[in-house]
Amino acid sequence: MEKKTRKALEEPHGVHILKIQPEYFRAQAEGKKNFEIRENDRNFNVGDELWLREYDPKAEAYTENSLVVKVTYITSYMQQENYVVLGTKLEAFVCSRCHDECEPEETTKLSNGEYICDFCKFILKEDEQQC
Ligand SMILES: [Zn+2]
Repeated sequence: MEKKTRKALEEPHGVHILKIQPEYFRAQAEGKKNFEIRENDRNFNVGDELWLREYDPKAEAYTENSLVVKVTYITSYMQQENYVVLGTKLEAFVCSRCHDECEPEETTKLSNGEYICDFCKFILKEDEQQC
């Protein structure tokens, strides 16, 4: 799979950049949560990508963590007005350091909560003062 780098906050057609709270980010990252309930203010479609950026409400800031999921299903059944349930499939992690997308199995969770790719992990090993 060709690597993509997500540095800019660009939102190409079919890509939606969304805030996600740490609790739900972790559940998505661990593969336990495969859906999002969202206000449908941006015309979500099956096949779209959600770029989920972890947002820490206490710090009122984004963390370095984000991941990419694909929308597999959409329903508004029994939802509040204008809300939808989006079925999602985890596609990639975005490395906290180099911002490359990588497969979940190519990602390591650091003790500080960052997700980094195996390439950055290798660099960390090389100069250990960062650990
Ligand atoms: Zn990296």
